[in-house]
Amino acid sequence: MAEEQQCLECGKLFTENLVETEHGAFCRPCYDALLTTVKEQVAVQNSEINYPLSLAGGLLGAALGVLIWWAITFYSGYSVGIVAIVIGITVAKGITVFNGNRRSQSIQLMAVAITVIAFFYADYLVVRSYILSGNEAEYINILTYLPDPKIFLNVLKETFEAFNLVFLGIAIWQAWTMTRPYKFE
Ligand SMILES: [Zn+2]
Repeated sequence: MAEEQQCLECGKLFTENLVETEHGAFCRPCYDALLTTVKEQVAVQNSEINYPLSLAGGLLGAALGVLIWWAITFYSGYSVGIVAIVIGITVAKGITVFNGNRRSQSIQLMAVAITVIAFFYADYLVVRSYILSGNEAEYINILTYLPDPKIFLNVLKETFEAFNLVFLGIAIWQAWTMTRPYKFE
């Protein structure tokens, strides 16, 4: 007799009429339902991508993520690097919500690019807040929200530490996987 296996989706035990996949076994009805869903998702993601809308969603998500990171870091007084993951999530979510869950490699690259910029900008904002909290009058006109790129880079150079790259990597990974195209196997 064939071995009993559990359907990954509904959890019932089956000995026959199972579909084996690389992720595990599914019963036929569950497999067919999942297949339909995946096919629909693939069809949607491959339909025309609105890049300006994707960009708008990504930037909005970035703004939200940066705000969360800044608030947590500045008010807790700790630099909690892992919070950077929030930026990857909000950027990816912003893009896929705005573009109707379209996915492609270009969308992934867009998500990563926005995440990287947002990551450094968030870092800048935190440092800016610390500096201004001591010497507001002296720096308020220099450390603006949209600083001179030279000043921006200088601030980052002074404060950036190598281990921050780990958190940047995690944020990038998050953005990349959350916008990864569905594969039809
Ligand atoms: Zn099932």
